[in-house]
Amino acid sequence: MIKAENIYKSFGDLEVLKGVDLHIEKGEVVSIVGASGAGKTTLLQILGTLERMNKNRESSLVINGVNIEQLNAKKLARFRNTHIGFIFQFHQLLPEFTAVENVCIPAYIAGKPKKESEERARELLDFLHLSHRYEHKPKELSGGEQQRVAVARALINNPDIIFADEPSGNLDSESAEHLHRLFFKLRDEFQQTFVIVTHNEELADMADRKLVMVDGNIL
Ligand code: ATP
Repeated sequence: MIKAENIYKSFGDLEVLKGVDLHIEKGEVVSIVGASGAGKTTLLQILGTLERMNKNRESSLVINGVNIEQLNAKKLARFRNTHIGFIFQFHQLLPEFTAVENVCIPAYIAGKPKKESEERARELLDFLHLSHRYEHKPKELSGGEQQRVAVARALINNPDIIFADEPSGNLDSESAEHLHRLFFKLRDEFQQTFVIVTHNEELADMADRKLVMVDGNIL
């Protein structure tokens, strides 16, 4: 599903990734841990196609058989929107929109019709135990509920992979646990693949594989 080979990334003189190799299979939940500054977020951004790696003949990133480096900006955006979902520490929901409207945004960007998108959004919110919150705006939801709306938004286009960066970093322990269980439920029911950067030890240890990053490489 994801085949990353020899990934390098520098910001100016700072070498952040130093030849990372990584293979991830469909339905795997992989956690990435490591000290602050080790390069976890940078790696996640590159795997998630939000950031380009350094150009290097020996480097490659193939997701679902597609060589990412060969896509131009427009094709890359389309690929990202159809194959990849993101969950961030701060949910980044739009405050003036309801839960259903927020969940629908990636579907609208993908050009899907309103009625079909809203139906799918409600189905996802039902699955995430938010049936009573369709019309609520973010500020009317708890932190855990907001993060579950963000999970529904990440799922609306049926992505192959979800990349999560500190998804429970901003939640109390009960909401965090609920969210973590949800990831595994999605994996068990839909073979959803997750790559999760986290400082939460419990979540990191629950994963099928825990990768430890040290100074720009995976141990
Ligand atoms: P944390 O656990 O604190 O989030 P991390 O392991 O995710 O850390 P990264 O965010 O990947 O680490 O950052 C790795 C290094 O790259 C840091 O020294 C950071 O300051 C630097 N860095 C990240 N993004 C940029 C950028 N856009 N421009 C310049 N330097 C950057």
